Amino acid sequence: MSLELSRKAMAVKPSSTLAITAKAKKMLSEGIDVVGFGAGEPDFPTPANICEAAKRAIDEGFTKYTPAAGTAELRQAVSDKFLRFNHLNYQPSQIVISNGGKHSLNNIFEALLNPGDEVIVPSPFWLSYVEMIKLAGGVPVTVRCPKEQNYKITASQLEFAINDRTKALVLNTPNNPTGMIYTREELQAIADIAVKKDIYVIADEMYEILTYEGQEFVSIASLSEEIYNRTITCSGVSKSYSMTGWRIGYVGAPREIAKLMSSIQSHQASNPNSIAQVAAAEALNGPQDKVEEMKREFDRRRIHMYERLSKMPHISCIKPMGAFYTFVDCSGVFGMSYKGEEIFDIAHIAKALLDDYRTAVVPCTDFGADDHIRLSYAISMESIEKGLDRIEAYLGELK
Ligand SMILES: *Cc1c(COP(=O)(O)O)cnc(C)c1O
Repeated sequence: MSLELSRKAMAVKPSSTLAITAKAKKMLSEGIDVVGFGAGEPDFPTPANICEAAKRAIDEGFTKYTPAAGTAELRQAVSDKFLRFNHLNYQPSQIVISNGGKHSLNNIFEALLNPGDEVIVPSPFWLSYVEMIKLAGGVPVTVRCPKEQNYKITASQLEFAINDRTKALVLNTPNNPTGMIYTREELQAIADIAVKKDIYVIADEMYEILTYEGQEFVSIASLSEEIYNRTITCSGVSKSYSMTGWRIGYVGAPREIAKLMSSIQSHQASNPNSIAQVAAAEALNGPQDKVEEMKREFDRRRIHMYERLSKMPHISCIKPMGAFYTFVDCSGVFGMSYKGEEIFDIAHIAKALLDDYRTAVVPCTDFGADDHIRLSYAISMESIEKGLDRIEAYLGELK
Protein backbone atom coordinates (compact mmCIF):
# COMPACT_ATOMS: atom_id res chain seq x y z
CA MET A 1 0.00 0.00 0.00
CA SER A 2 1.29 3.45 -0.80
CA LEU A 3 -1.35 5.35 1.16
CA GLU A 4 0.07 7.20 4.11
CA LEU A 5 -1.34 6.33 7.52
CA SER A 6 -2.23 8.95 10.13
CA ARG A 7 0.80 11.13 10.86
CA LYS A 8 -0.69 11.91 14.25
CA ALA A 9 -0.90 8.22 15.12
CA MET A 10 2.54 7.44 13.75
CA ALA A 11 4.06 10.20 15.87
CA VAL A 12 2.96 8.43 19.06
CA LYS A 13 5.70 6.61 20.92
CA PRO A 14 4.66 3.24 22.30
CA SER A 15 4.90 3.05 26.09
CA SER A 16 8.41 2.01 27.14
CA THR A 17 7.23 0.94 30.60
CA LEU A 18 5.05 -1.67 28.95
CA ALA A 19 8.03 -2.98 26.92
CA ILE A 20 10.17 -3.67 30.02
CA THR A 21 7.17 -5.20 31.80
CA ALA A 22 6.54 -7.43 28.79
CA LYS A 23 10.13 -8.69 28.78
CA ALA A 24 10.03 -9.33 32.53
CA LYS A 25 6.73 -11.20 32.14
CA LYS A 26 8.22 -13.33 29.37
CA MET A 27 11.18 -14.23 31.59
CA LEU A 28 8.75 -15.10 34.40
CA SER A 29 6.77 -17.37 32.06
CA GLU A 30 10.03 -19.15 31.21
CA GLY A 31 10.40 -19.94 34.90
CA ILE A 32 13.05 -17.25 35.57
CA ASP A 33 12.68 -15.69 39.02
CA VAL A 34 12.39 -12.00 38.09
CA VAL A 35 11.73 -9.21 40.58
CA GLY A 36 9.48 -6.63 38.91
CA PHE A 37 9.93 -3.09 40.20
CA GLY A 38 7.96 -1.85 37.19
CA ALA A 39 4.50 -2.27 38.73
CA GLY A 40 2.27 0.74 38.09
CA GLU A 41 -0.67 -0.63 40.06
CA PRO A 42 -1.37 -1.68 43.67
CA ASP A 43 -0.71 -5.36 44.37
CA PHE A 44 -3.77 -5.72 46.63
CA PRO A 45 -7.08 -7.25 45.56
CA THR A 46 -10.02 -4.88 44.98
CA PRO A 47 -11.85 -4.72 48.37
CA ALA A 48 -14.67 -7.27 48.74
CA ASN A 49 -17.47 -4.74 49.32
CA ILE A 50 -16.68 -3.19 45.93
CA CYS A 51 -16.69 -6.56 44.13
CA GLU A 52 -19.97 -7.49 45.84
CA ALA A 53 -21.61 -4.27 44.65
CA ALA A 54 -20.59 -5.12 41.07
CA LYS A 55 -22.01 -8.65 41.36
CA ARG A 56 -25.30 -7.22 42.62
CA ALA A 57 -25.37 -4.79 39.69
CA ILE A 58 -25.13 -7.70 37.25
CA ASP A 59 -27.78 -9.73 39.08
CA GLU A 60 -30.11 -6.74 39.13
CA GLY A 61 -29.69 -6.24 35.39
CA PHE A 62 -27.84 -2.93 35.58
CA THR A 63 -26.18 -3.79 32.28
CA LYS A 64 -27.34 -1.17 29.78
CA TYR A 65 -26.19 2.24 28.54
CA THR A 66 -25.97 4.96 31.17
CA PRO A 67 -25.90 8.75 30.66
CA ALA A 68 -22.72 9.69 28.73
CA ALA A 69 -21.18 11.57 31.66
CA GLY A 70 -21.92 8.73 34.09
CA THR A 71 -24.79 7.66 36.35
CA ALA A 72 -26.45 10.22 38.61
CA GLU A 73 -25.52 8.02 41.57
CA LEU A 74 -21.79 7.96 40.78
CA ARG A 75 -21.63 11.65 39.91
CA GLN A 76 -23.27 12.41 43.24
CA ALA A 77 -20.75 10.13 45.01
CA VAL A 78 -17.88 11.95 43.27
CA SER A 79 -19.40 15.32 44.13
CA ASP A 80 -19.64 14.29 47.82
CA LYS A 81 -16.07 12.99 47.80
CA PHE A 82 -14.77 16.24 46.24
CA LEU A 83 -16.41 18.20 49.03
CA ARG A 84 -15.37 15.85 51.84
CA PHE A 85 -11.79 15.11 50.78
CA ASN A 86 -10.69 17.95 48.49
CA HIS A 87 -12.77 20.85 49.93
CA LEU A 88 -14.07 21.41 46.41
CA ASN A 89 -17.61 22.25 45.50
CA TYR A 90 -18.39 20.53 42.17
CA GLN A 91 -22.07 19.95 41.38
CA PRO A 92 -22.91 16.63 39.65
CA SER A 93 -23.40 18.64 36.42
CA GLN A 94 -19.71 19.59 36.60
CA ILE A 95 -18.58 15.98 36.84
CA VAL A 96 -17.71 13.59 34.01
CA ILE A 97 -16.98 9.92 34.60
CA SER A 98 -14.74 8.21 32.02
CA ASN A 99 -13.08 4.88 31.27
CA GLY A 100 -10.15 5.40 33.63
CA GLY A 101 -8.10 8.46 34.52
CA LYS A 102 -6.22 8.17 31.24
CA HIS A 103 -9.46 8.55 29.31
CA SER A 104 -10.44 11.51 31.52
CA LEU A 105 -7.15 13.21 30.68
CA ASN A 106 -7.59 12.54 26.96
CA ASN A 107 -11.05 14.11 27.11
CA ILE A 108 -9.66 17.16 28.93
CA PHE A 109 -7.03 17.76 26.24
CA GLU A 110 -9.62 17.20 23.49
CA ALA A 111 -11.97 19.70 25.11
CA LEU A 112 -9.32 22.40 25.69
CA LEU A 113 -6.86 22.35 22.80
CA ASN A 114 -6.83 23.89 19.36
CA PRO A 115 -4.06 23.02 16.85
CA GLY A 116 -0.76 24.48 18.03
CA ASP A 117 -1.87 25.27 21.58
CA GLU A 118 0.98 24.73 24.02
CA VAL A 119 0.67 22.81 27.27
CA ILE A 120 3.38 23.13 29.91
CA VAL A 121 4.47 19.82 31.40
CA PRO A 122 6.92 19.93 34.33
CA SER A 123 9.64 17.34 33.75
CA PRO A 124 10.07 14.58 35.02
CA PHE A 125 6.51 13.73 34.00
CA TRP A 126 4.18 10.79 33.62
CA LEU A 127 4.97 9.65 30.09
CA SER A 128 1.42 9.64 28.69
CA TYR A 129 0.84 13.41 28.99
CA VAL A 130 3.06 14.38 26.07
CA GLU A 131 1.60 11.76 23.74
CA MET A 132 -1.99 12.66 24.71
CA ILE A 133 -1.33 16.36 24.13
CA LYS A 134 0.09 15.63 20.67
CA LEU A 135 -2.86 13.38 19.82
CA ALA A 136 -5.22 16.23 20.71
CA GLY A 137 -3.34 18.54 18.33
CA GLY A 138 -1.45 20.41 21.03
CA VAL A 139 2.25 20.98 21.61
CA PRO A 140 3.79 19.71 24.86
CA VAL A 141 6.38 22.09 26.33
CA THR A 142 8.43 20.34 28.99
CA VAL A 143 10.14 22.35 31.69
CA ARG A 144 13.07 20.70 33.44
CA CYS A 145 12.65 20.58 37.22
CA PRO A 146 15.92 19.36 38.75
CA LYS A 147 16.43 17.31 41.87
CA GLU A 148 17.61 20.43 43.78
CA GLN A 149 14.01 21.68 43.68
CA ASN A 150 12.56 18.23 44.47
CA TYR A 151 11.62 17.82 40.80
CA LYS A 152 8.84 20.39 41.21
CA ILE A 153 8.11 23.37 38.96
CA THR A 154 8.50 26.76 40.62
CA ALA A 155 6.22 29.72 40.03
CA SER A 156 9.02 31.66 38.34
CA GLN A 157 9.85 28.76 36.01
CA LEU A 158 6.18 28.61 35.10
CA GLU A 159 5.94 32.32 34.47
CA PHE A 160 9.03 32.18 32.26
CA ALA A 161 7.62 29.28 30.20
CA ILE A 162 4.29 30.96 29.43
CA ASN A 163 3.81 32.73 26.09
CA ASP A 164 0.74 33.71 24.08
CA ARG A 165 0.29 30.19 22.72
CA THR A 166 0.19 28.66 26.22
CA LYS A 167 -3.18 27.13 27.04
CA ALA A 168 -2.59 25.06 30.15
CA LEU A 169 -0.27 23.59 32.76
CA VAL A 170 -0.39 19.92 33.77
CA LEU A 171 0.24 19.53 37.48
CA ASN A 172 0.55 16.06 39.01
CA THR A 173 0.63 15.76 42.79
CA PRO A 174 1.47 13.35 44.40
CA ASN A 175 3.77 12.76 41.49
CA ASN A 176 4.47 9.78 39.28
CA PRO A 177 7.43 9.09 38.85
CA THR A 178 9.06 11.28 41.53
CA GLY A 179 6.88 10.57 44.60
CA MET A 180 6.95 14.29 45.49
CA ILE A 181 4.01 16.36 46.79
CA TYR A 182 3.42 20.08 46.21
CA THR A 183 2.88 22.08 49.39
CA ARG A 184 0.05 24.57 49.85
CA GLU A 185 2.50 27.49 49.47
CA GLU A 186 3.99 26.12 46.26
CA LEU A 187 0.52 25.58 44.82
CA GLN A 188 -0.57 29.07 45.84
CA ALA A 189 2.39 30.61 44.00
CA ILE A 190 1.63 28.52 40.89
CA ALA A 191 -2.07 29.41 41.09
CA ASP A 192 -1.21 33.12 41.25
CA ILE A 193 0.76 32.86 38.01
CA ALA A 194 -1.95 30.78 36.28
CA VAL A 195 -4.55 33.42 37.19
CA LYS A 196 -2.32 36.36 36.29
CA LYS A 197 -1.30 34.87 32.93
CA ASP A 198 -4.74 33.45 32.18
CA ILE A 199 -4.03 29.74 31.58
CA TYR A 200 -5.85 26.56 32.60
CA VAL A 201 -4.49 24.10 35.15
CA ILE A 202 -5.04 20.40 34.64
CA ALA A 203 -4.62 18.89 38.10
CA ASP A 204 -3.88 15.15 37.99
CA GLU A 205 -4.61 14.01 41.54
CA MET A 206 -4.75 10.29 40.87
CA TYR A 207 -2.61 9.52 43.97
CA GLU A 208 -4.34 11.98 46.34
CA ILE A 209 -4.98 9.34 49.02
CA LEU A 210 -1.43 7.99 49.00
CA THR A 211 0.43 10.54 51.11
CA TYR A 212 2.71 9.67 54.03
CA GLU A 213 4.18 11.11 57.23
CA GLY A 214 1.14 13.35 57.70
CA GLN A 215 1.96 15.32 54.55
CA GLU A 216 -0.95 17.56 53.68
CA PHE A 217 -2.57 16.94 50.32
CA VAL A 218 -3.96 20.10 48.71
CA SER A 219 -6.10 20.40 45.58
CA ILE A 220 -4.98 23.50 43.72
CA ALA A 221 -8.59 24.32 42.77
CA SER A 222 -9.46 24.70 46.46
CA LEU A 223 -7.15 27.70 46.92
CA SER A 224 -9.41 30.44 45.52
CA GLU A 225 -12.44 31.16 43.36
CA GLU A 226 -10.18 32.42 40.54
CA ILE A 227 -8.07 29.28 40.35
CA TYR A 228 -11.14 27.05 40.78
CA ASN A 229 -12.61 28.64 37.66
CA ARG A 230 -9.59 27.69 35.56
CA THR A 231 -8.79 24.25 36.96
CA ILE A 232 -9.88 20.85 35.72
CA THR A 233 -9.42 18.38 38.58
CA CYS A 234 -8.83 14.78 37.56
CA SER A 235 -8.76 11.66 39.71
CA GLY A 236 -10.11 8.12 39.74
CA VAL A 237 -10.49 4.91 41.67
CA SER A 238 -7.65 2.96 40.00
CA LYS A 239 -4.79 3.67 42.40
CA SER A 240 -6.72 4.52 45.58
CA TYR A 241 -8.94 1.43 45.62
CA SER A 242 -6.79 -1.00 43.69
CA MET A 243 -9.27 -0.90 40.81
CA THR A 244 -6.96 -0.46 37.80
CA GLY A 245 -8.81 -3.05 35.70
CA TRP A 246 -12.27 -1.57 36.31
CA ARG A 247 -11.45 1.56 34.29
CA ILE A 248 -13.17 4.41 36.12
CA GLY A 249 -11.71 7.91 36.22
CA TYR A 250 -13.48 11.21 36.86
CA VAL A 251 -13.16 14.94 36.44
CA GLY A 252 -14.55 18.01 38.16
CA ALA A 253 -14.49 21.06 35.86
CA PRO A 254 -16.12 24.38 35.06
CA ARG A 255 -19.60 23.60 33.69
CA GLU A 256 -18.89 24.49 30.04
CA ILE A 257 -15.79 22.27 29.96
CA ALA A 258 -17.63 19.35 31.59
CA LYS A 259 -20.33 19.74 28.93
CA LEU A 260 -17.79 19.57 26.09
CA MET A 261 -16.13 16.52 27.62
CA SER A 262 -19.47 14.80 27.97
CA SER A 263 -20.45 15.45 24.36
CA ILE A 264 -17.05 14.24 23.08
CA GLN A 265 -17.46 11.11 25.16
CA SER A 266 -21.02 10.51 23.99
CA HIS A 267 -19.74 9.90 20.45
CA GLN A 268 -16.46 8.29 21.29
CA ALA A 269 -17.41 5.83 24.06
CA SER A 270 -21.13 6.38 24.83
CA ASN A 271 -20.50 5.93 28.57
CA PRO A 272 -18.20 4.16 31.00
CA ASN A 273 -19.03 0.56 31.92
CA SER A 274 -22.28 0.46 33.91
CA ILE A 275 -21.16 -2.27 36.33
CA ALA A 276 -17.84 -0.57 37.05
CA GLN A 277 -19.72 2.65 37.81
CA VAL A 278 -21.73 0.89 40.51
CA ALA A 279 -18.49 -0.53 41.93
CA ALA A 280 -16.84 2.92 41.91
CA ALA A 281 -19.80 4.46 43.77
CA GLU A 282 -19.43 1.77 46.45
CA ALA A 283 -15.67 2.48 46.62
CA LEU A 284 -16.30 6.18 47.29
CA ASN A 285 -19.36 5.84 49.55
CA GLY A 286 -18.48 2.62 51.39
CA PRO A 287 -16.10 1.85 54.28
CA GLN A 288 -12.54 3.15 53.80
CA ASP A 289 -10.70 0.78 56.16
CA LYS A 290 -9.10 -1.26 53.32
CA VAL A 291 -7.64 1.93 51.88
CA GLU A 292 -6.06 2.73 55.23
CA GLU A 293 -4.66 -0.81 55.45
CA MET A 294 -3.17 -0.60 51.97
CA LYS A 295 -1.66 2.77 52.77
CA ARG A 296 -0.01 1.49 55.95
CA GLU A 297 1.58 -1.36 54.00
CA PHE A 298 2.84 1.01 51.25
CA ASP A 299 4.27 3.22 53.95
CA ARG A 300 6.18 0.36 55.57
CA ARG A 301 7.69 -0.63 52.22
CA ARG A 302 8.47 2.99 51.32
CA ILE A 303 10.49 3.57 54.47
CA HIS A 304 12.37 0.30 54.14
CA MET A 305 13.18 0.85 50.49
CA TYR A 306 14.32 4.41 51.02
CA GLU A 307 16.57 3.42 53.94
CA ARG A 308 18.26 0.64 52.01
CA LEU A 309 18.70 2.63 48.79
CA SER A 310 20.18 5.55 50.74
CA LYS A 311 23.02 3.33 51.93
CA MET A 312 23.94 2.03 48.48
CA PRO A 313 26.95 3.42 46.61
CA HIS A 314 26.81 5.48 43.36
CA ILE A 315 23.05 6.14 43.48
CA SER A 316 20.85 8.52 45.46
CA CYS A 317 17.22 9.33 45.99
CA ILE A 318 15.02 11.83 47.77
CA LYS A 319 12.61 10.33 50.28
CA PRO A 320 9.31 9.84 48.44
CA MET A 321 6.30 11.34 50.23
CA GLY A 322 3.43 10.12 48.06
CA ALA A 323 2.21 7.60 45.45
CA PHE A 324 4.15 4.28 45.41
CA TYR A 325 7.39 5.02 43.58
CA THR A 326 11.01 5.65 44.50
CA PHE A 327 12.84 7.78 41.97
CA VAL A 328 16.51 6.89 41.88
CA ASP A 329 19.25 9.15 40.51
CA CYS A 330 21.80 6.97 38.69
CA SER A 331 23.93 9.75 37.22
CA GLY A 332 26.76 8.68 39.53
CA VAL A 333 26.95 5.35 37.71
CA PHE A 334 27.63 6.98 34.33
CA GLY A 335 31.29 6.78 33.41
CA MET A 336 31.85 3.68 35.55
CA SER A 337 32.26 0.30 33.95
CA TYR A 338 30.46 -3.00 34.19
CA LYS A 339 32.07 -6.20 32.84
CA GLY A 340 34.69 -4.04 31.21
CA GLU A 341 32.17 -1.88 29.37
CA GLU A 342 31.64 1.80 30.07
CA ILE A 343 28.14 2.78 31.19
CA PHE A 344 26.89 5.88 29.46
CA ASP A 345 23.14 5.53 29.42
CA ILE A 346 20.28 4.45 31.63
CA ALA A 347 19.12 1.74 29.21
CA HIS A 348 22.45 -0.03 29.78
CA ILE A 349 21.82 -0.11 33.53
CA ALA A 350 18.25 -1.39 33.14
CA LYS A 351 19.39 -4.07 30.70
CA ALA A 352 22.21 -5.32 32.95
CA LEU A 353 19.83 -5.44 35.92
CA LEU A 354 17.27 -7.45 33.97
CA ASP A 355 19.62 -9.78 32.06
CA ASP A 356 22.20 -10.48 34.77
CA TYR A 357 20.33 -9.76 38.03
CA ARG A 358 16.76 -10.71 37.07
CA THR A 359 15.47 -7.34 38.26
CA ALA A 360 13.13 -5.20 36.17
CA VAL A 361 13.30 -1.44 36.73
CA VAL A 362 11.84 1.44 34.70
CA PRO A 363 14.47 3.60 32.93
CA CYS A 364 12.92 7.08 32.98
CA THR A 365 14.05 8.36 29.59
CA ASP A 366 10.43 8.67 28.43
CA PHE A 367 9.56 10.38 31.72
CA GLY A 368 11.97 13.19 30.92
CA ALA A 369 14.75 11.90 33.20
CA ASP A 370 17.40 10.00 31.26
CA ASP A 371 19.59 9.42 34.31
CA HIS A 372 16.95 8.06 36.69
CA ILE A 373 15.15 4.79 37.24
CA ARG A 374 11.76 4.33 38.88
CA LEU A 375 11.23 1.57 41.43
CA SER A 376 7.68 0.77 42.44
CA TYR A 377 6.89 -0.45 45.94
CA ALA A 378 3.54 -1.85 44.87
CA ILE A 379 5.11 -5.31 45.22
CA SER A 380 5.55 -7.52 48.29
CA MET A 381 8.15 -6.77 50.95
CA GLU A 382 9.84 -10.12 50.15
CA SER A 383 10.21 -9.13 46.50
CA ILE A 384 11.47 -5.68 47.47
CA GLU A 385 14.09 -7.25 49.72
CA LYS A 386 15.24 -9.69 47.06
CA GLY A 387 15.32 -7.00 44.35
CA LEU A 388 17.29 -4.57 46.51
CA ASP A 389 19.85 -7.31 47.28
CA ARG A 390 20.29 -7.75 43.56
CA ILE A 391 20.62 -4.04 42.82
CA GLU A 392 23.21 -3.82 45.60
CA ALA A 393 25.12 -6.76 44.10
CA TYR A 394 25.11 -5.07 40.68
CA LEU A 395 26.38 -1.77 42.12
CA GLY A 396 29.12 -3.72 43.90
CA GLU A 397 30.39 -5.01 40.55
CA LEU A 398 30.90 -1.52 39.09
CA LYS A 399 34.41 -0.21 38.70
C1 LIG B 1 -2.14 5.60 36.70
C2 LIG B 1 -2.15 7.04 36.39
C3 LIG B 1 -3.22 7.65 35.73
C4 LIG B 1 -4.36 6.92 35.06
O1 LIG B 1 -5.00 5.98 35.77
P1 LIG B 1 -6.07 5.02 35.11
O2 LIG B 1 -7.32 5.27 35.88
O3 LIG B 1 -5.53 3.64 35.29
O4 LIG B 1 -6.25 5.35 33.68
C5 LIG B 1 -3.20 9.02 35.56
N1 LIG B 1 -2.17 9.76 36.00
C6 LIG B 1 -1.12 9.21 36.63
C7 LIG B 1 -0.02 10.10 37.08
C8 LIG B 1 -1.06 7.83 36.84
O5 LIG B 1 0.03 7.30 37.41
